[in-house]
Amino acid sequence: MTSFSPIRLAITPSQYDDESSIGFALRIAQVNGFQYLSRMLSVTQINKLVRGKGLQLTDSLGIKGMYYDNQAVVRTPLFQQSWQINSKVCLTCIRELGYIKAEVQQPFIACCSVHHCTFIDKCSQCNQQLKWDINLLKGICTADSCCVKLSDSPIDEPYLSQLNQLTSPQIADCLLISTLLSTPNKTIIEPSKFCSTLNYYQQLGSGYKLLTDKDKFTTWLTSFFEQQSIYLPSNFLYAQLWLLVENLNSAWPIDNVVEHLTSINFKRIQKPINPLIVSMPAATALLETTPQSLKKFSSMGLIKKQNNSRLTINSRIDVSPIIQLLSQHTVESDMNSLNSMRDICLKHTIEQIDIMQALLEGDITLGYKPSNTLPDSIYCRKNELIKVGEKVLLSKQSSEITLIQASHITGFSLDELITFRKKGLLKQPVAYSSYCFMSDAMNLKNKRHNNKKTDKHTLLVSPLLI
Ligand SMILES: [Zn+2]
Ligand SMILES: [Zn+2]
Repeated sequence: MTSFSPIRLAITPSQYDDESSIGFALRIAQVNGFQYLSRMLSVTQINKLVRGKGLQLTDSLGIKGMYYDNQAVVRTPLFQQSWQINSKVCLTCIRELGYIKAEVQQPFIACCSVHHCTFIDKCSQCNQQLKWDINLLKGICTADSCCVKLSDSPIDEPYLSQLNQLTSPQIADCLLISTLLSTPNKTIIEPSKFCSTLNYYQQLGSGYKLLTDKDKFTTWLTSFFEQQSIYLPSNFLYAQLWLLVENLNSAWPIDNVVEHLTSINFKRIQKPINPLIVSMPAATALLETTPQSLKKFSSMGLIKKQNNSRLTINSRIDVSPIIQLLSQHTVESDMNSLNSMRDICLKHTIEQIDIMQALLEGDITLGYKPSNTLPDSIYCRKNELIKVGEKVLLSKQSSEITLIQASHITGFSLDELITFRKKGLLKQPVAYSSYCFMSDAMNLKNKRHNNKKTDKHTLLVSPLLI
């Protein structure tokens, strides 16, 4: 049912400047003798009011209320709008002023700006969350089975006095870490439209505890790390932690622990590799690749998109399949880590995806020993890597590369490459001055190589000699 037949109201009050929309509706209903708000308004209307929309009853009731524009003033990945839809109220405000202020619906405000006391969100008698209903204005529990008089400080939370001192950005941090705490293995946050945090003060308290107690935080981290698979490189392990660190608004005592993560000792246990779902930028960073190559990872089954849609900046990506595959390969004594052979990779423009493709095509034997990053953890033989590199260079003949890549391939400095460009030997793709064609770079490389062979006295092969 969406429409209500117009009701004639005996009393039509006005809204206070700082009164919440839902509180205003409760007050109208109360002064007009309704027992429940639902007798005066439809569920749809009530839901709109709870979400901060103004009361629009001009036609039926002759009352028009205000709309609150609640753009998030505090940065948080948790909610799109800084607006709390479950109720918390200041009992003293209700007693002294007779109305509910709009500020109680701010998720990052934890105590009354007038009375500096904690709001209440639960009944201490029945422990139920308070609902937006008329009993709130009477200071009575909104659970029908309870209806006791609400008491001023019912919250059993050891850190309550500290919570009252927190700034809004600090409150946002407490809510963030307590959300992560309650969902271990979370590496991405899908923001909800509104804040609907239940047990608000307990959430704040557990977040505050973790952010301020270094030992507790270290214990939490240790147990988090110990639950992860032994096969994950460390930076994969820290993916969840970066989510936290990137989104904290304030400085906290635990910052010091985060800065010295590598000093935390934890036992790595043989555990199965669970899905590790991260954002697209995080996947690109962890795999040390580009968004373009990420598509190839996906088509080769090395990562898994969370749905079948196109790969976009908002995609959720499971990066565990590549680790699953690599974990089956052991390191032989004549192998070196990819990272230690970075110069070979640069010279041949070998990317992470090329290594994986070579593995799947049987062109290279890999070893895997989890270390700090993926290139630190992947091992192979030098001669096989060079062979793969030569194939990569050939396959990229017609492609465009950066001048920096050309410098790695040819061994010429950027200045020397510019001289070649002026001589017409390193053409510029349309509109991209920092790019050139791979084929030109390969020609320069071969000429340099031949010059070295034919003229043994030429120690320095400069662009002028070619
Ligand atoms: Zn108050
Ligand atoms: Zn109760």
